[in-house]
Amino acid sequence: MTPPLAHPAPASAASAADPTERIRAALFHRIGADGVYARTGLYEEVLQRLTAFVTRQRDPRAEVLRFPPVMSRAQLEKSGYLKSFPNLLGCVCALHGTESEIRAAADRHETGGDWTSSLAPSDLVLSPAACYPLYPIVAGRGRLPRDGGLYDVAADCFRREPSRALDRLQSFRMREFVRIGTPEAIQAFREEWMGRAQQLAAELALPCQLDVANDPFFGRVGQMMAVSQRQQALKFELLIPYFEGAKPTACMSFNYHRDHFGVTWGIESEDGAVAHTSCVAFGMDRLAVALFCVHGIDLARWPASAGRALGL
Ligand code: AMP
Ligand code: ZN
Repeated sequence: MTPPLAHPAPASAASAADPTERIRAALFHRIGADGVYARTGLYEEVLQRLTAFVTRQRDPRAEVLRFPPVMSRAQLEKSGYLKSFPNLLGCVCALHGTESEIRAAADRHETGGDWTSSLAPSDLVLSPAACYPLYPIVAGRGRLPRDGGLYDVAADCFRREPSRALDRLQSFRMREFVRIGTPEAIQAFREEWMGRAQQLAAELALPCQLDVANDPFFGRVGQMMAVSQRQQALKFELLIPYFEGAKPTACMSFNYHRDHFGVTWGIESEDGAVAHTSCVAFGMDRLAVALFCVHGIDLARWPASAGRALGL
């Protein structure tokens, strides 16, 4: 059978009136779960151009590493993730055991039963941020060179926060520039990037503001961690409103971990002092969606400076 070549979406008065729905239809196709979408060619075109734009901002001395969407469960546990965000973590589970045990579990599905009760956790989790696998690699190399380290990392990330909102995905792409070294070097790196990020947003013709922020730490103890993080100004975010008057979306973050990863992994500066770390995270999908929401879905009509930045 030859399938028809195109499946035009049926026009509906409701979707034509709601700008979010029109943009959603041009960017994503539903594949059975909220926050997990098939991405259209139009969307990927912009995401790739945005990726190239970010790459052009990279310090030539940065070491490039690309991580898979899964990482070692033991490494993430050691990083302290379960203390902060246990509710967001996805763990890879699989059917373990003998052939007959696995067959029996899978067959339960055929008879309307629950095969998932036989799942057991594996040694992998879904990466919740791009920088976690970097620190043990750096620690394993011995003391840092005199200038510390600078890295460009990226990964497909997962966070268990299902939502129908365009800016809250369960599976999304994160790019990070990470700096490891002395507290002074780290602070300077983060300061510089908080300025540069606003310039980049201006080039992309995206309205933005920078603000102090906190991570969504879990539970009541988490609320205290959030207050302390804010008081110490350890996290800033670049906020972009998708529509006029909309609550702005955090599209980038600027994080100072102090010596958390240095102590956890034993990362040492050249003089033996515990290294400090900072990461500047680009939420690539949030930035791409921001471009479409602010400039529309017709790339030919995007502002000239955004066109130049993205090579349109
Ligand atoms: P964070 O580690 O929470 O600061 O995340 C880094 C960046 O990833 C954020 O600034 C967002 O741009 C992006 N991000 C975080 N959570 C999500 C999500 N659920 N959907 C899409 N992008 C996200
Ligand atoms: Zn990070």
